[in-house]
Amino acid sequence: MNKPFFSNLKCRECGKLYEKKAIHVCEFDFGPLEAAYDYDAIKASISRSVIESRPQTMWRYRELLPIDGEPTVGKQVGFTPLVKADRLAKAFGIKTLYIKNDTVNYPTLSFKDRVVSVALSRAVELGFKTVACASTGNLANSVAANAAAAGLKSYVLIPADLEQGKVLGSLVYGTNVIAIEGPYDQVNRLCSEIAGKYGWGFVNVNLRPYYAEGSKTMGFEIMEQLGWRIPRHTVAPMASGSLLTKLHKAYGEFVKCGIVEETAFSVYGAQATGCAPISHAMKRGTDMVKPVPKPETIAKSLAIGTPADGYYAIHAMRQTGGNAEDVTDEEIVDGIKWLAEYEGIFAETAGGVTVACAKKLIDTGKIPRDGEAVLCITGHGLKTQEAIVGKCGETRLIKPSLREFEEHVYNKDMAAAV
Ligand SMILES: *Cc1c(COP(=O)(O)O)cnc(C)c1O
Ligand SMILES: [Zn+2]
Repeated sequence: MNKPFFSNLKCRECGKLYEKKAIHVCEFDFGPLEAAYDYDAIKASISRSVIESRPQTMWRYRELLPIDGEPTVGKQVGFTPLVKADRLAKAFGIKTLYIKNDTVNYPTLSFKDRVVSVALSRAVELGFKTVACASTGNLANSVAANAAAAGLKSYVLIPADLEQGKVLGSLVYGTNVIAIEGPYDQVNRLCSEIAGKYGWGFVNVNLRPYYAEGSKTMGFEIMEQLGWRIPRHTVAPMASGSLLTKLHKAYGEFVKCGIVEETAFSVYGAQATGCAPISHAMKRGTDMVKPVPKPETIAKSLAIGTPADGYYAIHAMRQTGGNAEDVTDEEIVDGIKWLAEYEGIFAETAGGVTVACAKKLIDTGKIPRDGEAVLCITGHGLKTQEAIVGKCGETRLIKPSLREFEEHVYNKDMAAAV
């Protein structure tokens, strides 16, 4: 690296600048710290063609990511497909739909591989030997996998009631899985105490400013894959609200760097009704997010009762003329099935939330039917199988004979078809 594109950490509230260390809150007003860049320098050194000449990973936008040198962890992450979803668009009665498909992100099948690859690359630069996280499941999977591949020691802390796929999806990498008897907020509070006392690199606590920036790459990729432009409407699931605020930031940064034209866009947030502190605040017309002490939803990956970035997510939605919506567990299952049956994509519960909320936003006219929307689908369905067991039809059991096949399958189906 020749020029320091990534210059400082900066308080989102008072603007005070900090050194690029493992810190995440302002010492004056406790505002969150965020990565700050020299956009003029970046504008002078990257362009569409420079980006296009690079390998198809999230690191093709490395000037806009908060590390000093070359990435060392998660070098192959990102550049997932943007799928034009014509069948789903027709079913929902909207002109154009796209699916940003992070169910197939490498290596752990969720968008968390983006944030972890940045956080751990930075953790290595800062000299951490032990890394950790507070997680609703996907983050734990990604920290465990990427730490294993990088030879780092890891601890992942999760609520004790997670899906088996999420638990095994951490244990298999030989990480230390600590299950906490309590909801995510209590896991997170404990992690803050541990981070302060032992100096480990918690990707979403003391390394959070670095972690959070990784989400921007989902937005960068969407713009590039649309042919270098900002989508008119974007729907994203919200847990802490970080992804949504970073999509907003990503669109603005590409404008600032002269990579896309400035065009109108709106961002929309999706939550599960059983834990919808941000959506409910949005609907009440306030930016005061009321904590949900006991989340109750099958969308466990989104079950954060006190969302760290809720306030900023609300402002991103308001400022862009966007909105928020939330859906019941039943609607979440419908959303999972729609995406699977119309587009052949098997998403986890958070994907069901996004799809079902998008349908509501279209049905209520908040996203216009003659418009275009990108739905951010963030995790794979094989990790949350419990949510749909018994809700997708049944297998038909027959003996291995042609007669049985004809009697129990073919003839019946043909008769039903007329
Ligand atoms: C973590 C996560 C999100 C969003 O998280 P934010 O905290 O809002 O950035 C969305 N979907 C899935 C599947 C996740 O694991
Ligand atoms: Zn401050």
